[in-house]
Amino acid sequence: MKDHLMTTYARQRVTFERGEGAWLWDTRGERYLDALSGIAVCGLGHAHPAVTRAICAQAAKLTHTSNLYEIDTQMELSQRLCEVAEMDAAFFCNSGAEANEAAIKLARLYGHQRGIESPTIVVMNNSFHGRTLATLTATGNRKAQAGFEPLVPGFTRAPFGDLSALETIAHNRSDIVAVLMEPIQGEGGIRIPENGYLSAVRELCSENHWLMMLDEVQSGMGRTGRWFAYQHENAIPDVVATAKALGNGFPMGACLARGRAARVFAPGSHGSTFGGNPLACRVALAVIDTIADEQLCQKAAELGDYLTNEFRAQLGATPGVVEIRGRGMMIGIELDRACAALVTEALAEKLLINVTADTVIRLLPPLIISQAQADEIVETVCALVKGFLETRAAS
Ligand code: PLP
Repeated sequence: MKDHLMTTYARQRVTFERGEGAWLWDTRGERYLDALSGIAVCGLGHAHPAVTRAICAQAAKLTHTSNLYEIDTQMELSQRLCEVAEMDAAFFCNSGAEANEAAIKLARLYGHQRGIESPTIVVMNNSFHGRTLATLTATGNRKAQAGFEPLVPGFTRAPFGDLSALETIAHNRSDIVAVLMEPIQGEGGIRIPENGYLSAVRELCSENHWLMMLDEVQSGMGRTGRWFAYQHENAIPDVVATAKALGNGFPMGACLARGRAARVFAPGSHGSTFGGNPLACRVALAVIDTIADEQLCQKAAELGDYLTNEFRAQLGATPGVVEIRGRGMMIGIELDRACAALVTEALAEKLLINVTADTVIRLLPPLIISQAQADEIVETVCALVKGFLETRAAS
């Protein structure tokens, strides 16, 4: 079929028309196991009845009024989301990039309120924060930035996981207002910092009156085995960006803040026409209730550990496998060579996976997968990786 799409994506040649749990069916009726969840979006799987019910019931009642009026579902969601995230206030938007944009604007405003003329945010090498101009600038990937210069001023960069680099910045600069980072780098290859890093960053931020801002767009909403990845270390940030799994496929994002950071914005300082509409908020409430009711944080932790341990047992000693990293259902298998071809090979085996940072197989299965589905993922991925490494030369 001739299309009129801009060529922003190199797509796999398959169209899905139906989903249920971790299964997807294509237009020819073939069934696939989804180990990617639409890139960490469908944490509850496809067509979860609670989400479908929420969409249908709210759509039949009221979808949009605008933020000119009070919205009771938005108030309810702000309370519920702040409770699970240990935050004080929420700003609702429609995507991860917008949640980070809100965080970046909040940090700048906070800086100006503190008398800092040219507020600067520390961001990390190898990070990903979105495709708007400010979030693209914050992103630590030259390939994504190339061609879009001039980028936005007001950012400086540090190596991820390196506390001493942040200490040096703290020592040398007086224009820093915040640090923005992913607690686990997703697009960057499932990079998990050493235990204690986030708490140390927390301490450094407090000492220097910097806002600690965490981008949990990929890692949040139960994926790592807690509501948010910072809760593993009890390193509670000042600002959190969440999106993706918050709406389980319905576009929804939020910038959450606590303490002084929660009081930075005033009426008129930021906004979004669609952000926090009754429909999106009702869906997010259903998602939160389902994660809590079905104990999906715990399940993600347990099944995620199982998956990572199985991969380590079956692939850990395979020549060509560099490292296997995992926290909950956020799992990366790093090879010593580029392996994007594995995505198409897995598709032929009716399994959806992803490769990121050229050499890392990324698995982000729905949190609701069964033990049998987890075993199927392990079996297929291990066979594919072994076959791939035997037949493709190291780069
Ligand atoms: N931040 C992180 C950590 C992400 O992984 C992504 C998307 O992959 C984004 C931000 C951007 O989110 P969106 O595509 O919803 O704007």
